[in-house]
Amino acid sequence: MRDAALGEFDDPITLLDEDNRRFTMGGDKPFLLEREIRGAFAKFNSNSGWSCGEDPILDAFSHWTWVESGGAELVCDLQGHRGDGQLPYLGSAFYYLLTDPCICTRDREYGESDLGPAGIGAFFQNHVCNEWCEHLDIEYERPAYVNAGRLQTRMSTSYHSIHT
Ligand SMILES: [Zn+2]
Repeated sequence: MRDAALGEFDDPITLLDEDNRRFTMGGDKPFLLEREIRGAFAKFNSNSGWSCGEDPILDAFSHWTWVESGGAELVCDLQGHRGDGQLPYLGSAFYYLLTDPCICTRDREYGESDLGPAGIGAFFQNHVCNEWCEHLDIEYERPAYVNAGRLQTRMSTSYHSIHT
């Protein structure tokens, strides 16, 4: 069973995001199509340092991605469905089914939602290590300093072009 697949449109189509910005898809640009996520959809953390504070394992995951990448990347903006036993998925009752994350990198390699060092700094400025960070033995692995002063911490996804 596949949960995502690459596709293409024969004719370009234009989509609007929540900030009323246009994105044209099609032609030579493939797209990624995901299976519908069923059940309650939740936002767990953002790319500007916000966290819901109720899913410490996911904040620890974001922290861990930064450690594992040698400080080059932070996977954040985690959102999706928290499996609570009501809708088993692939044989598991308790799980997270995540979609559409952001990756903040030192060199802003991944487009508009990659807020670069400011996004990484915003995460660590707001992140308090939890028992999962301790379990992963990463609670002392943090940037020497954070440079997040110009970012407004928001629950919704932030885009580089809005903040420059
Ligand atoms: Zn941590």
